[in-house]
Amino acid sequence: MSKIIQIRWKEVTFPPICVVCTRYARKVVLVEKTFLYKRHTVEIKLHVPLCETHEAYSNPESRFYKPSEALAIRNSVSITKFLLHKDILELTFSNELIADRVARENAANLLTPLPSQALYPILAHILCHDVRLNTWLETSMLSDHFPTEEEARQVVYPQVNPLLAKNSCDGCFYELLDTLII
Ligand SMILES: [Zn+2]
Ligand SMILES: [Zn+2]
Repeated sequence: MSKIIQIRWKEVTFPPICVVCTRYARKVVLVEKTFLYKRHTVEIKLHVPLCETHEAYSNPESRFYKPSEALAIRNSVSITKFLLHKDILELTFSNELIADRVARENAANLLTPLPSQALYPILAHILCHDVRLNTWLETSMLSDHFPTEEEARQVVYPQVNPLLAKNSCDGCFYELLDTLII
């Protein structure tokens, strides 16, 4: 479901979360729109995070480029309105979770109601002692605050055994080396 947020126009901060799939984003793309007024031209630029997969789909220079996906990716964040004299920027997100997280991230400039919860992706580095499994488990949690490492670990633990089993490491000792909250 799409969601609209309004922000007092400053720099809009995005967490490093892909605006399409909510996974950890290692890439950033520029989304811009120009608004023409009688005496002014205002160029709004956003640095929008994408994961590597969605960046490749949306990049015409990539061999993974998919025009149909690129359109959906372009629509994931749209600059839908800019009221020059009121300094109000309106963004429309195709993913409500992303809208809520961006709203929280820009709480100081937010003009629409602050969402009670937002999505926090978690990356947990799992190393099995026989070294058959050395991987990052990706998960996420909804929270009304930036989760502590301990809170994130509580979300990760129940997911480790199924991951071990899937990788023929059932019953192995493992270490949770890092828990990153994004
Ligand atoms: Zn993605
Ligand atoms: Zn193992």
